[in-house]
Amino acid sequence: MKLLLAEDDAMLADALTTQLGGAGFEVEHAPNGAVADYLLSKQSFDIAVLDIGLPMMDGLSVLKHVRQTQPALPVLLLSARDALDDRVAGLQAGADDYVTKPFDFPELVARLQALLRRSQPANSSALLGRLSLDPTSRRALVAGEPLELSGREWTLLELLVNQRDKVVTKEQITQTWSAEGGETGGGNSIEVYIHRLRRKLEDAGLVIRTVRGLGYLMETEA
Ligand code: CA
Repeated sequence: MKLLLAEDDAMLADALTTQLGGAGFEVEHAPNGAVADYLLSKQSFDIAVLDIGLPMMDGLSVLKHVRQTQPALPVLLLSARDALDDRVAGLQAGADDYVTKPFDFPELVARLQALLRRSQPANSSALLGRLSLDPTSRRALVAGEPLELSGREWTLLELLVNQRDKVVTKEQITQTWSAEGGETGGGNSIEVYIHRLRRKLEDAGLVIRTVRGLGYLMETEA
């Protein structure tokens, strides 16, 4: 599991690199936000730990930037301050979890492992019916043929696949889209995208069911 650690406190970064290494993570350390941003754009990571207070570019800005291209990357924020504002801003910026310093190391590892478990389908190639998804390149194939998908269609498809056999609510769809940036359409626009995906998935052996009043559910064709 490859982990990006963005932390400017050298002693803490050293200790964390050693301990996370011992816990099975391959750690890449960034001493400031600019390096973190660069590494995230150049390398592929399974998870990222970002300190909020970083020189050059703060952790929230790094997070917002990476969310534009990697909506599914699990990100845990570290903050020195136990400030509610930070926590709210962090979650709004798309953080998956948040830990306040000082923290217990075993707790940090447990939270990272929980994030990885949740994101597992997003980080490995998922196969459903005749559809396979490659989250790294954001490509979908039906029986080996690439599907032409807009960014928003891809996000919607990934959400439905990752939560297959569970209802995906319109709120979840709107939130996921807004975490990716760009304007968020209302309920009608969700229906338009669902309609387009259904057409594109006709040969995939998959159906997107409408669950009235709740949302949508992806199932393999009976
Ligand atoms: Ca700091």
